[in-house]
Amino acid sequence: MPETGGIILGIDLGTTNSLGAYMTAAGPVVVRDAGGAALVPSVLAFGPDGQVTVGRQAKAHAVENPLSTIYSVKRLMGKSLKDVAEDLRVLPYAIKPGPNDTVLVDVAGSGRTPQELSAMVLEDIRRRAEAALGVKITQAVITVPAYFDDAQRQATRDAGRLAGLEVRRIVNEPTAAALAYGLDRKSDSCIAVYDLGGGTFDISILRCSEGVFQVLSTNGDTRLGGDDLDRELIDMLTGEIRARFGEELEFGPATRQALKAFAEEAKVRLSDYQQAKVQVDLGGGRVFERIITRDEFEARAAKWIDHTLEHCRRALADAGLAPGDIEEVVMVGGCTRIPLVRRRIAEFFGRNVYTAVNPDEVVALGAAVQAGILAGMKRDTLLLDVTPLSVGIETLGGGMGKLIMRNSAVPCMASETFTTCIDNQSAVDIHILQGERELAADCRSLGRFVLRGVPPMPAGMPRISVTFLIDANGILNVSARELKSGVEASVQVTPSHGLTAQQVDAMVKESYAHAMEDFEAHRVIDLRNEATRVINAIEKALGARGHVLAASDRARLDQAVADLKAAMKSEDGDAIDAAMRAANEAAQALTADQMNDVLRQTATGRKISEF
Ligand code: ADP
Ligand code: MG
Repeated sequence: MPETGGIILGIDLGTTNSLGAYMTAAGPVVVRDAGGAALVPSVLAFGPDGQVTVGRQAKAHAVENPLSTIYSVKRLMGKSLKDVAEDLRVLPYAIKPGPNDTVLVDVAGSGRTPQELSAMVLEDIRRRAEAALGVKITQAVITVPAYFDDAQRQATRDAGRLAGLEVRRIVNEPTAAALAYGLDRKSDSCIAVYDLGGGTFDISILRCSEGVFQVLSTNGDTRLGGDDLDRELIDMLTGEIRARFGEELEFGPATRQALKAFAEEAKVRLSDYQQAKVQVDLGGGRVFERIITRDEFEARAAKWIDHTLEHCRRALADAGLAPGDIEEVVMVGGCTRIPLVRRRIAEFFGRNVYTAVNPDEVVALGAAVQAGILAGMKRDTLLLDVTPLSVGIETLGGGMGKLIMRNSAVPCMASETFTTCIDNQSAVDIHILQGERELAADCRSLGRFVLRGVPPMPAGMPRISVTFLIDANGILNVSARELKSGVEASVQVTPSHGLTAQQVDAMVKESYAHAMEDFEAHRVIDLRNEATRVINAIEKALGARGHVLAASDRARLDQAVADLKAAMKSEDGDAIDAAMRAANEAAQALTADQMNDVLRQTATGRKISEF
């Protein structure tokens, strides 16, 4: 493998999950495997003949082999036996005292230091990056919680060295998250970084001035995280299982691990859907099935979120600040994908919170930004005073409907009302696009989300208001709201992520080059939409009143509709236009008769009322 020396890998070495990222000219990029996965569970499984597996495979292994599956090693880094007494009660594997007041993890009779174990995770991250980039990697920036003391930071450095990495810098996780959002470019501002991970909660208050971050205060709970929410669901499930199949029912380690996996899956699903189904096979023909709703989950999650708010209050008090003094709130950690968490934190700080960068990737991305700075790479990301490119949504038939035009000064906002195209449509797909071209396919896709729960109405009736808001940091919030029912959904993205000034220029130039053909393509889409409406109207009328047509008129109309359908398949706008006119004309006998009918009915009606 070629030596590079150039690339410094940014690594988020997490309690639950770890991952790597690297800097490119267009911004930081997460390392993914061939299947697209970036997160590596920080879990090690030791096989009977000494082989070690890392990550997802090891996590799955925990089901059969809880005692030789090692996780949460980060809790032991740089700690003494006395420090970790609390942890010992919940960790299934054995820990013994090591030299110089350290701890050793007992793996199949031999003691391993936490540094060695963390090094195995780091090595896996390094290998993945090497496989993805095709170069050898020897340097890294590794992140740690802001509250880590010297011993813990030193242990993390040692782990890096054992993994064959020169650790160029240890960076605080909240600082990395703020860097990933480019908040170092703010002149002087207070930033709250709310990090709810798998087993830990951290709130950090930072001040950034002139590109330098200062930690004003930290607070949190090293035993509060997604695991607690999983446990809430496990308790609910086991209670109900016992009520149904007998109070004496015992849950062995394998069943407990399976329940944990189901609970976590349900929790994750409930971030995107209103309900999640859990099915547990207890053997002996006993199958327990349960649909958990988001409301039920939120009711059980609420108290844990309240706890995190307590810590936020304390952190603010220590920093001598009030919630209103915080200018930016950054969400970090897998659990901040939970909609209730986002809502409550936004409420607490009284402002929109940042979620645009994947909360479980944002720390690694920030580490990569720091790595890029150390490697002397010029940061060529865009400084926003104006939106460099237009943003909008995909409209029916594949058009680009722009809401905010390029070169609008930020912050800015735009709203537009859309409607449905199918009767009783209950969900609307909102696809966010960026670019100057007229067709969705030629624009850059920034993300998409689904507005669900639109009440059944005929096509064209619902009024769906879509709002685009770009804040001063260039982060785009898109929300959609159906005005009758009030159902709402939203997403946040960073339009400038991964775009260099050159790429923006190229995108704009391309739109000039293609202006004429784009115009024609957009016209074809509009014509097709209109032709669909015409065909639907004709078919509806035929169903209701087809019998009034003479056979020859009917044949002419059928032919015209068939011709129109054929024309719609072409890209020839004039042909569609002509076929549509012909179909309209052929339908005139039908519509004229319908008009007569309507007139007759109203005439009759009037007569009756006159009597
Ligand atoms: P850590 O920083 O502690 O290593 P992460 O930030 O990766 O951990 O967070 C892991 C936690 O996030 C787990 O409890 C996981 O179940 C939870 N999580 C991941 N994705 C989601 C999601 N979509 N909704 C809710 N929780 C999630
Ligand atoms: Mg983390």
